[in-house]
Amino acid sequence: MFTISNEIIFWTQVGSIIAFIVALFVLYRLLVDQKDATIQLQKENISYLKDQLGDAKAQSPDLLAQSLTNRVNLLEGELSRLEQDKTATQDQISAKEAELTATRTKAEALTRQVLHARTLLKDFLCPKCGAPLAEKAYHYESVEYQGREVDVDHEYMVFECGYEVVDGEVRSLCKTTNTEPVS
Ligand SMILES: [Zn+2]
Repeated sequence: MFTISNEIIFWTQVGSIIAFIVALFVLYRLLVDQKDATIQLQKENISYLKDQLGDAKAQSPDLLAQSLTNRVNLLEGELSRLEQDKTATQDQISAKEAELTATRTKAEALTRQVLHARTLLKDFLCPKCGAPLAEKAYHYESVEYQGREVDVDHEYMVFECGYEVVDGEVRSLCKTTNTEPVS
């Protein structure tokens, strides 16, 4: 059976990031437009902002994935009812099977895209809870190595949940999940 619950959690994160960016963009436009805007226009802008956020939510892939999964389940139910129905024709059953295959293919393609996107975004999200990256920096350190001075760079990453990694080593635990680092 097709499962997508991890993808839903992931896309909820992405969805909220997208919604946040949209909100920032619209707020920026609001500020730019402010000097000419009447109070009425500002009100319209605010309701526009609310609509945009609503749209971003409605179009987020987690909801799309959920509705595709629901559709697959529904079609499976319809198909098994048709197969038990003595009056159903072979054509009806074949049509339903084709519909189920097409929907399943779509859902699987979406899952592949989601997995690919997650791979691309992996470095920007806390591996424990999916919180966004707050800061990534490289710190240089001069050390003496075999009588010579060499620069060593340290990769420093901290996520919004407090999860902190220096050169791949966990320095601070994720406060959201508060789990022990996987060794
Ligand atoms: Zn975390």
